Amino acid sequence: MAAILALVGRPNVGKSTLFNRLTRTREALVADMPGFTRDRHYGTARHQERDYLVIDTGGFEPEEREGLVAAMALQTRQAIAEADVLLFLVDAKEGLAGQDEEIARELRRSGKPVLLLVNKMDVRHAVAELPEFHRLGLGTPITLSAAHGHGMEQLWTAISALLAEAPTGAETSSELEDGPAIAVLGRPNVGKSTLVNAMLGEKRVIVFDQPGTTRDSIRIPYERAGRRYVMIDTAGVRRRARVGEGLEKLTVLKTLAALREADVVLMVMDAHAGVSDQDAHLVGVAVELGRPIVLVLNKWDGLEVRARERIKDELERRLAFLRYAPFHSISALHGSGVGELYRSIDKLWQNSQRHFSTGELNRLLEDIVSGHQPPLVAGRRIKLRYCHQGGTQPITLVFHGNQLDRLPGAYKRYLETAFRTALKLDGVPLRLLFRQGE
Ligand code: GDP
Ligand code: GDP
Repeated sequence: MAAILALVGRPNVGKSTLFNRLTRTREALVADMPGFTRDRHYGTARHQERDYLVIDTGGFEPEEREGLVAAMALQTRQAIAEADVLLFLVDAKEGLAGQDEEIARELRRSGKPVLLLVNKMDVRHAVAELPEFHRLGLGTPITLSAAHGHGMEQLWTAISALLAEAPTGAETSSELEDGPAIAVLGRPNVGKSTLVNAMLGEKRVIVFDQPGTTRDSIRIPYERAGRRYVMIDTAGVRRRARVGEGLEKLTVLKTLAALREADVVLMVMDAHAGVSDQDAHLVGVAVELGRPIVLVLNKWDGLEVRARERIKDELERRLAFLRYAPFHSISALHGSGVGELYRSIDKLWQNSQRHFSTGELNRLLEDIVSGHQPPLVAGRRIKLRYCHQGGTQPITLVFHGNQLDRLPGAYKRYLETAFRTALKLDGVPLRLLFRQGE
């Protein structure tokens, strides 16, 4: 499961530059997902086949900063609480600032693993400034230049080492016997609370933690029709949504926390309001984290035929990268469509845990490749030799062969569709990895 990295530091130290560099590692994948929207503050990164969620807290800071760290935005604190590793940036060109020391104090108090990054080390002679950064009491600084990409390998090595020491918190999918953990996601007012109540089958008020506590999502185990489920309830769902940028961002953070724990994600959208950039982005993050998704268009009641057609078209267009996901139009208010929703949840949960033998996969690979050969590159045919299953959640197929780095996106999509169809993997994300050689 993806580890969460939060970039922290005063303005102008290079957080967003580093964010872009870290998340750019996924651009190739994103390019294969038409309709995917990037967000400036949340992105995914990948290093050595491990997924990371990167949060740039820079965007959360209030415009006028009088109270310095005293005013460290609530969202920044929330991001710190959710993170597995904090990346604390300071500026080598400007040297240590008073604000850095305040932030350092705050970070030490969090008890989270912190990496001190001395950025803008594009000039070697800045090394002279290093000793002062030791004063922050956060261990040996890592020097880098986010702008030029220097020091990135050391950074990744340090991150991996920290994570190996302290394994990430919510590694959990549910215990098998608990059934799938369900996260209900969506923007404020789309009807999440109403849906959660409809799904739990009774009007119950669920208490939620105070904001600012580390883990605000709570797990509610329950049974329905003889099967077990766990509802992941986030404060973002329970709290009556108020309008405001700040809260909107907070909701996204809660959402990320819930995503980590979810086995199945219900992405709720308001059929009256349509699909927003934020919807598309959240769905994209869920997909990249390998979560199976059910698309739920709520408030279907009282919608006329033409409006229904329009919203369906919009969904197809905006979420084109998610054609494989089941889609439900429901009315949480009237409880209509909830039964079908459970059928999709059950199916996705089962599908996301399937195991395939290497023999079966390779027989399929032979069929699929002979049905449509990979192209020639510089006169030589790209060769897919064999494949095996690399994991579940998401189901990962690892391919070995020659020149696989030159396999066109269109052929990868052909492989994905062919395997998805043949293995009857409806609804779940499928990750294909390509390895060079043997
Ligand atoms: P943020 O406010 O912390 O997100 O900082 P930004 O990423 O916006 O960077 C602030 C300024 O520092 C920009 O002008 C960047 O181009 C510059 N910057 C970022 N990283 C480096 C670096 O490694 N070297 C140098 N020389 N400048 C950098
Ligand atoms: P949340 O902020 O996403 O948890 O949304 P709520 O569950 O609080 O619902 C927001 C508003 O939408 C409330 O006034 C609900 O009564 C209303 N609502 C929820 N589901 C439906 C529905 O299926 N149809 C209609 N017409 N209204 C709904």
